[in-house]
Amino acid sequence: MQLSKKIPSLQKLVLALIVLGKLHLVDAQSSPDRSTEAGEAAITDPNQECSSYDYPPVSSQIGSFPPQWEKATILANDSAAQAKWASINGSIPTNISVKTQPPPSSYSSDDPDCWWTYNLCTTPKLSGLSPDVSAAPEPSTLGYGFDDGPNCSHNAFYDFLQSQNQKATFYFIGSNVADWPLEAQRALADGHEICAHTWSHPYMTTFASENVFAELWYCMQMIKLAVGVTPTCWRPPYGDVDDRVRSIAHALGLQTIMWEYDTEDASVNGKSVTDQTVVTNYQDFINTAKNGTFNSTGAILLTHELNNFTMSEAVSFYPQLKSTFQHIVPVGVSLNKTQPYVESNYSLPTFEQYIAGTVTTNGTRISPNDTSGSSTPSDSASAPSPSASATRSGAASSNAASETKMHVYGTFWLVVSLLTLCSLW
Ligand SMILES: [Zn+2]
Repeated sequence: MQLSKKIPSLQKLVLALIVLGKLHLVDAQSSPDRSTEAGEAAITDPNQECSSYDYPPVSSQIGSFPPQWEKATILANDSAAQAKWASINGSIPTNISVKTQPPPSSYSSDDPDCWWTYNLCTTPKLSGLSPDVSAAPEPSTLGYGFDDGPNCSHNAFYDFLQSQNQKATFYFIGSNVADWPLEAQRALADGHEICAHTWSHPYMTTFASENVFAELWYCMQMIKLAVGVTPTCWRPPYGDVDDRVRSIAHALGLQTIMWEYDTEDASVNGKSVTDQTVVTNYQDFINTAKNGTFNSTGAILLTHELNNFTMSEAVSFYPQLKSTFQHIVPVGVSLNKTQPYVESNYSLPTFEQYIAGTVTTNGTRISPNDTSGSSTPSDSASAPSPSASATRSGAASSNAASETKMHVYGTFWLVVSLLTLCSLW
């Protein structure tokens, strides 16, 4: 009698342990992989996306960068930065003064420095500098891009772009890349173009030349460290650029990308700029396009990857932009800039290739954690087979599929164990 009572108790104990084990397994399987681009890209809960993680390839080197969100200076022990600055310093004009904001009344109305903030000047007066890019040169074309990323909660937005097979230009802030390196990697993995947007997002004309250099240099270096590529384009925060700042960017191999139309999506303050202002700006821009304004030369519209509002507006206005413009392409594609980075193992399609459906070419996955090391051939809208974008998206969906499978297995075993336990009790 005693013995037969003991056996069920033992069974109960074993089964209880099995149930607990399965519960633990299910829990472990549902936690996201925060160490890879694909794992991070598969997270759908914005709160989870925005909880910080450690990415050793960047965190181990963060001491070689200026403090995040502070005015960049050339670090005392950074011989590479010092050597680069020494090599270009002599070519930077010293007769263009450091500015104050807003433009003071004492500044000459002739705008000798081609100061955009003063008079929207985009054609430099200093010789040797190319005009800024402020429109997409191709007719009826929108040069599509977003400033201030990477934003930690951008997966829904990037998923949307992916669902539309739409590529864009992302202007990344170095301090953001340092916090969200896997989100920065996603831009490249998805086939977007990456440009620099400084280290700490200052009014660049208010900085001494050495600080202007450091803001650009450390942004470029952080993108290189986190993503594996070095940008050759940049956008000045607030558009604040003059010929002194341009000459430093030029010496670093950076093309200056501006805009002519502004949604003001990053300026909403509930007073002078409201949500409705942004909606009106989008609508005005679309009406301008419908009026034929861009029939001979396209446009660039200023929009941001700054927060949920700016990204949601981008998603909600995409269908109208798509039906209004003949083509929506990354700015580099509109410029036929097939070599977007210093590194030669990544190229953008030409404008003709892009509009024919080849939206990425030779997109090598360069993320420091990537072990596949495989180069990916072209991506076609009509036949989206092997491509940088399709590879990443495939990896993400196969990840999701295997996660779902694990869930089904886990739940199945949990139910079986519980039923057995109940029948024995
Ligand atoms: Zn910005």
